[in-house]
Amino acid sequence: MTLTGNAKKAGVMGWPIGHSLSPALHGYWLRHHRIDGAYVPMGVRPEHLAAALRALPVLGFAGCNLTIPHKEAALGLMDRVDPVARRIGAVNTVLVGAEGMLEGRNTDGFGFIENLRGAIAGWTGRRGPAVVIGAGGAARAILVALIDAGAPEIRLVNRTEARAAALATEIGGPIRTIVWQRRGMALREAALLVNATNRGMTGEAALDLPLDDLPQEAVVTDIVYAPLETPLLAAARRRGNPVVDGLGMLLHQARPGFAAWFGVAPSVTPALRAAVMESLARE
Ligand code: NAP
Repeated sequence: MTLTGNAKKAGVMGWPIGHSLSPALHGYWLRHHRIDGAYVPMGVRPEHLAAALRALPVLGFAGCNLTIPHKEAALGLMDRVDPVARRIGAVNTVLVGAEGMLEGRNTDGFGFIENLRGAIAGWTGRRGPAVVIGAGGAARAILVALIDAGAPEIRLVNRTEARAAALATEIGGPIRTIVWQRRGMALREAALLVNATNRGMTGEAALDLPLDDLPQEAVVTDIVYAPLETPLLAAARRRGNPVVDGLGMLLHQARPGFAAWFGVAPSVTPALRAAVMESLARE
């Protein structure tokens, strides 16, 4: 669509930025809603992040998303950080407010929960124990989101135990760490299993996790979305567990930013998924 001089502007900062799916995602919504606006990829080196963020209000941007490697560094560069982003320790959505004030939010946990709610009718975090495998950046957002969704118990398993223990102490709530060697047993009576590692990604080995002890009704989700059906999801599906792929998390986390920048609350639809999957296939 042709832009006017009044076009609203947002984008995504990362380094490198070429693989980001966010321009395809927001571009779809901009076209769908016929909005006079643009969402642009911005390759920003780490040493230029502060200057790039401060340029947003100067250039008339409504805000931006942040991706690797900027999410943690941005925390200290905001004028205001929302409490969820503060607990997660990372910012993925920036809003430009009055007088150029920068507000940092984190919508990754929101995207994670909305993906489950959208895929499994009546899903609630209160159903029972959740098992989260992985203690990296993505796991932080998922842990905070599961606590806020009312999970009665969260079993955190990570290859490097010390990292899981540090995260459990920092985030608090009903998180219990379980050593890597006992990961299979951690699945007993679980209501939800989450792979928050990069295992199963194209080019990486599958997550090494025996599912024998996992109840058949437990929901299994993976935050890896390339491939869409990871070896973990395929194994869970074969034994009859409900499965939810990771692409939905990416799509849903984008909703709050789009609504704030462009003034329209967008939806995650099959057509959006298809458009983003087309971009993914081109990668
Ligand atoms: P990260 O901070 O680098 O953390 C990686 C995690 O994977 C750590 O827990 C690490 O364990 C674990 N891991 C790595 N190699 C392993 C191995 N050989 N065996 C067992 N565990 C291993 O990465 P991240 O930012 O959290 O991202 C993780 C994945 O999530 C990536 O594939 C990313 O693309 C995806 N992601 C998806 C979404 C979405 O919207 N769907 C959002 C964010 C991220 P150690 O601590 O032992 O190293």
